[in-house]
Order: sequence, then C-alpha cells, then structure tokens
Amino acid sequence: MHVRFWGTRGSIAKPGPATLRYGGNTSCVEVCADDGTRVVIDCGTGAHELAHALMADPTSADGHLLVSHTHWDHIQGFPFFDPLFVSGQRWEIYAPGGRAQHLEACLAGQMSYDYHPVSLSDLEASYRFHDLTEGQFDAGGIRVTAQYLNHPALTLGYRLEADGATVIYASDHEPHSVRPAESRPGAEPVHQEDQRHVRFLAGADLVIHDAQYTLDEYAQKSGWGHTPFECAVDYAIAARAVRLALYHHDPWRADGDVDDLCQRARKLAGYGHHVPDVFAAAEGSTIELPHRPAAVRPPISPRASALISAEPVRAASVLIVEADPAAAQTLRDALEPEQIRLLGADDENEALVLAREVRPSLIFLRLGHKATSGVAFCRRLRRDPDPRVADIPVVLMTDLRLKAESIAEAFQAGATDYLSEPIKPTLLRSRVRSWLLRSRTT
Ligand SMILES: [Zn+2]
Ligand SMILES: [Zn+2]
Repeated sequence: MHVRFWGTRGSIAKPGPATLRYGGNTSCVEVCADDGTRVVIDCGTGAHELAHALMADPTSADGHLLVSHTHWDHIQGFPFFDPLFVSGQRWEIYAPGGRAQHLEACLAGQMSYDYHPVSLSDLEASYRFHDLTEGQFDAGGIRVTAQYLNHPALTLGYRLEADGATVIYASDHEPHSVRPAESRPGAEPVHQEDQRHVRFLAGADLVIHDAQYTLDEYAQKSGWGHTPFECAVDYAIAARAVRLALYHHDPWRADGDVDDLCQRARKLAGYGHHVPDVFAAAEGSTIELPHRPAAVRPPISPRASALISAEPVRAASVLIVEADPAAAQTLRDALEPEQIRLLGADDENEALVLAREVRPSLIFLRLGHKATSGVAFCRRLRRDPDPRVADIPVVLMTDLRLKAESIAEAFQAGATDYLSEPIKPTLLRSRVRSWLLRSRTT
C-alpha cells in the first residue's frame, strides 16, 4: 500500500510561515492498494489538494471516502472535493452511523445556503452513504476494520489491510485512563478499553495516531478527545507497531515545536521493549508499505459486518442507578439529546429488579462513596440465569481517584466500561452511543 498525507493539522487549518514543513491543512490521508483501490480517510482541508491531484486523471479518480467523524476539521474539504462534482465518478462514503441519514444531514448542513453556494444535491458523481458501527467491510481490495475511539463525537478508527501490509488511522482519540507517571514506556494499560485499543493497533506496519498534546498539556485538556504523544508512543510499543506517525498536530505547534515533540517521542520509544520508528506526519509526504504475500481474506459474516443495515433495531433504553437526585438529573440532562428512553433506580437492588423486568440496553451506575458497590453489582448481574440480563453492558462512573488495582477488579467483576469524573457531557454522550451501537440498539 501507498500512503500519502494531504492534511496533518488538527482542529483548525493553520497555514503560514510557521507550519510550512508539517503543513497547515486539516486531516486527510490517501491510501492506495496494488489493485488500484483508493481509500481517502477524512476530508479536512487537505482534501482540496488531493482533489486537484485526482482531477489530473479523472478517468481513475473513483474511490472510497472513510470519515472518522463529522467535526469540522474532518469534513471541511468535502464541499471542495472536485471528483464528487464530476459525472461518471463513483464514490462510496462511510462514517459512524446509527441515526438515520446523520452523515448526509451533516454534510448537507455545511453545504446549506447560508454556508456554501453549492448544495449536496448538486453533486454529479455517483455516490452512496454507508452507516458504520464496529466491524469489518471491504473497500475494493482493502479489508477495513472499524473500531470506536474515545472522542466527544461518535468516532471510528480504521485498520486497513491489503497486499500483506497494515495501516491504522486512529485520530481524535483520548486515553480511557490516565497513564500512571511511574509506568514504563509501553506498559500494558490498566483500562480494558485502552487494552482493546492496543489490540486494534497490533502488529501494524504504520500507525497514524493522534498526538496533539503532551502529558503536561493534557492535564488542562482532559475531555477534549485527544492523545498526549507519550500515550501514542506507549500504544505503538505495546502493539509492536513498526512505524508511528504522530498526527493531528496542534494548531499552536510551529514546525520547530513539532520537531521537538518528535525528538521527545523518539527518546521515549527508545526505552520500550519494542522500538517503533517514530516520525511526525508531514503534509505532502508519502510512505510505501512493505509488500508481502497476502493471505486469502475470509468472508465477513453478517455479525462481524461494520455496515449498519436498514433493519429496525430494538429501541434503546438506559437505566441510571444513582441515589442522589441532583447527580441523576445531571446525567439525564447530558443524555437527553440522544433521544433514548431513560430509566432510574435509587439503589442496586431496585436496579436488579428493573434489569430483569425491562432489560435495558445499558446500565449506568455511578459509584457512591464505596467503590466496591459497583463491583458487587456487576458480579450479581453477571450471575443472572437469564443471559439477556447477565449480558447487559454496565458502565461504572466515579469521581473517586481509584488505584489501578480497583479499576482492574471492576473489569474482572464484569464491568463493561469505567468512566472517571469529571467527564464532559459530549464525551459521555459519544461513549454511551458507542455502547448502544455495539449492542445494536439505537
Ligand atoms: Zn480533529
Ligand atoms: Zn474531533
């Protein structure tokens, strides 16, 4: 596979003399396989220059566009992506879905009369929208695996495999748990979702990863949905990735600052039990991934498919277990825009009764002053003789600063996820939505 960076900047385009080497355009990466399959990941302002390059030979400008999420820095190039305006072009457009025509509505919204002179209905190319959840699909000759990231909007990372090589795109992601200061580089993360993230990156030839912050900066920016570079290095070491591209550069970071950050990342990587080759993604640069004999791709079963079918799914309901009415109302307010049925229980006994009666899609349990209570509840629920009850996802949330062993104990007891407060309502919403989609309820 052949990879080209067309936009590497995060949050907002930042052209100017300070960003000449690493680039000022926002997220856009092109991946091409030997068989001619072209995948474009994200459509930030970098897509404008890519469109220009593609139009040099419009006969071969078809492709697949994978959108990680619909924040502006990932879609603002869409109205300027020329191949979509050319009759005869074919584009398949994918994004995290689950709400009817959400992607189409977002893209049409940024092209509406007040914002742009050309509307979505003016596109002349042949195109189709595909709603995704976690799972796999084939984009031409490239096998794609999608997995949710941790970001204050529903966001997917993409693992692309073709020609015996693997490239990962994991931008706009925040660690699920704070990296212990004393941990050695590449140590196994404590949070189950961070462990899952490492498995998603496992053995990749190239990991393109959010590295917007440093750990020092992250202390002020927890909940903004981005990764300190130290954690990106940890993941690459733990996943035994061959190369790590630091990506989604902070708009305040000048070229010299990115150089410094990259040097620090390389030094950190050097202490790992595996040493990935670390570099900072630069706009316009290309990477040729190794060619190896490719294994025959097994067919994707319907259960493993990332493509959300139009079939109706069970309406979602979330049971909030919280004794404090004010805290319960805060949670309700945060989840209210999701248009899901919200149920309440004051304590765990009542929650168990409701869980058996109603079988909610998700149980949200806010730990009180005794962190052990959530562990006990998970154990009771998981032992329920009815598998439809025993399998209900349970998200624990706490403002207690728990030790790593306590978090590990919660997961061992059957907790599905573990959130540390304070948590921004936007991040909470996307986390809940991703769990509902994992269980295929909306
Ligand atoms: Zn972004
Ligand atoms: Zn974002």
